[in-house]
Amino acid sequence: MQLAVLCAVCLLPGGLALPLPWEAGGMSEQQWEQAQGYLKRFYPSDPETRDANSLAAKLKQMQKFFRLPITGMLNSHMIEIMLKPRCGVPDVAEYSLFPRHTKWNSRVVTYRIMSYTRDLPRMTVNQLVAKAFRMWSKEIPLSFKRVGWGTADIMIGFARGAHGDPYPFDGPGNILAHAFEPGPDLGGDAHFDEDERWSDGHSLGINFLFAATHELGHSLGLGHSSDPNAVMYPTYTKRDPESFQLSQDDINGIQELYGKRSNTGED
Ligand SMILES: [Zn+2]
Ligand SMILES: [Zn+2]
Repeated sequence: MQLAVLCAVCLLPGGLALPLPWEAGGMSEQQWEQAQGYLKRFYPSDPETRDANSLAAKLKQMQKFFRLPITGMLNSHMIEIMLKPRCGVPDVAEYSLFPRHTKWNSRVVTYRIMSYTRDLPRMTVNQLVAKAFRMWSKEIPLSFKRVGWGTADIMIGFARGAHGDPYPFDGPGNILAHAFEPGPDLGGDAHFDEDERWSDGHSLGINFLFAATHELGHSLGLGHSSDPNAVMYPTYTKRDPESFQLSQDDINGIQELYGKRSNTGED
């Protein structure tokens, strides 16, 4: 009788069927669920390696990505990382390119700003997007041309909640934005969560220039970088707006895809 009662208790928390190895101390049920959700979302399973589907394997992937000791055990430092605001694109690899190495094949890539935030004047958004594109274009032989109507290669917009792709935004905090690798339709598009407070760097909030430069890196074909100095690092960090620039890691990644911009004055 006692055994039956115990088993009934064991079966109750169905969502916790795959407990995460925890290094020390207790953890609330909510934290367990959040951690599992984070690992599933940002460390998607590789269909070729079945082992990588287990949560312990995902923990190791995350530890490898964030350059932590690879123990396969969850700890409070990892929980801290999980709570930071970040980009919605998964941390697929330690390397800074999407696995398929997709890129734009034309020398002129078009973009269109489809919708704006209420937090900043439209002119400011236009200027910051142009500035973010310049960060990348000065390193590679590619130019970006803004169009005012029709379909552009890179469609940029602000949206909240579900917004017409399979990745609904999540309200204030956590996921700030996401973008798609180069390709047709959604490919290259960059979306920013309108439930965040966006800033031009002079007010409180998420610095839109930093986020836009990061997301446009995805739009051009870069994945996340493990280098904390890289613009392509997945979590949002406050940086000095005066000295904000691409890191050597970002430049290496983008030049590996497109080559270097020649200094002959063309473009
Ligand atoms: Zn990202
Ligand atoms: Zn989206």
